Amino acid sequence: MSKKQCSLCSAIDSDINPVFSKNGLFICRDCQNRYGASSIDDFINRLDMDNESDDFYDIGVDFSNTSPKILKATLDEYVIGQDDAKKLLSVAVYNHYKRILYQNNDNSDDVEIAKSNILLLGPTGSGKTLMAQTFARFLNVPIAISDATSLTQAGYVGEDVENILTRLYQAADYDVKRTEMGIVFIDEIDKIARVGENRSITRDVSGEGVQQALLKIIEGSVVNISPQGGRKHPHQEFVPINTENILFICGGAFDGLNDIIKRRLGGNMLGFNSDKKIINNDENYFHLVDSSDLMNYGMIPELIGRLHIIATLNEINQDAMLNILLKPKNSLIKQYQKIFALDNVELEFEEKALKLIAQKAIDRKTGARALRAIMESLMVDLMFDIKDYEGYKLIVTADFVSDSKPPMLIKKNPKNSKKTKRTD
Ligand code: ADP
Repeated sequence: MSKKQCSLCSAIDSDINPVFSKNGLFICRDCQNRYGASSIDDFINRLDMDNESDDFYDIGVDFSNTSPKILKATLDEYVIGQDDAKKLLSVAVYNHYKRILYQNNDNSDDVEIAKSNILLLGPTGSGKTLMAQTFARFLNVPIAISDATSLTQAGYVGEDVENILTRLYQAADYDVKRTEMGIVFIDEIDKIARVGENRSITRDVSGEGVQQALLKIIEGSVVNISPQGGRKHPHQEFVPINTENILFICGGAFDGLNDIIKRRLGGNMLGFNSDKKIINNDENYFHLVDSSDLMNYGMIPELIGRLHIIATLNEINQDAMLNILLKPKNSLIKQYQKIFALDNVELEFEEKALKLIAQKAIDRKTGARALRAIMESLMVDLMFDIKDYEGYKLIVTADFVSDSKPPMLIKKNPKNSKKTKRTD
């Protein structure tokens, strides 16, 4: 029979440090003492008192005035394309917070709505993190963004899974209640897939251990974190965080998953037979993914079982890349125009120039995240000389983008407006 284990510090029941249990909670004597509790009942009372002090669950916006449609419209302001994913996510996030706010503030019936976490499948730089960030900002809840590749099993070199929660706690300004309603985004979840029979790539064997560790926090439990300078509990070594209402959004590119889906749908070959689908080798079938594909990829079934909502994002094509440059509320082009306007320079981009920038970004194969670096290196000289352009309209041309030719300058004063080219 397996020994009892403390829910907070994972200590195993022993004569020196016995583990007491009540209502599914396991607490060792050391943890009890740390809380100044004389028994497990006393410990539970103290926890309840802590929770009662912040009696009402609330987030940073008036939730009664929001809806999945409003959430989607907010995403539309910042995230280009990815319509299906945006819709699915808006419904999921809305339901998640509705569940917390109504269920926890109204105990009038016994119907419990289960938590649904989210898995986003899509290439790097397609907007997965951006969506999570946009929701967190709109709902005014804390967010912690982590990379699964930096995580290890407890005891190994690397970051413990619990650190994700520490980061959330810090983002919540050391407020436990706010932490417990936050969003955790874990990127590159595919990189901790275990090596499966179907995969030829050699992976870190500890992947499965990390998945198990993640499962523990995702499935909803009380996790013991060290606050690292937490101001609220200076006398405590750690803070228990209940992860039951934390929304976990996992993201990954899942290279190679398409082949697994295709194999399931109808074999590798192009063709058709009675109960198999016609498979086009060039097509992306991520939208048809099911949990068996993810298990074949190397994700453990228990973790997949906790990620109920699966949304897929598309690769950013040239049109989308152009729109990302121009359309979001805080698009890069708008940001540069604002920076230049502060020095009385009107910044404009030729359409051809924008297309070239979009193409350069596509060539880098890191999705839209390439845009910022490309724009930075393109604009740095112009920004260095910004005072020379005061009172001018500065037009970024295709030649400037492709061959570093001088940009076009037009004097802004309409009376003696004349077209000039920079000559330096
Ligand atoms: P990932 O899918 O790898 O999580 P991110 O969401 O971090 O990618 O995207 C990186 C950056 O690229 C974002 O900060 C944003 O500027 C830009 N970006 C990516 N996808 C989109 C999109 N669909 N709409 C607008 N901007 C995007």
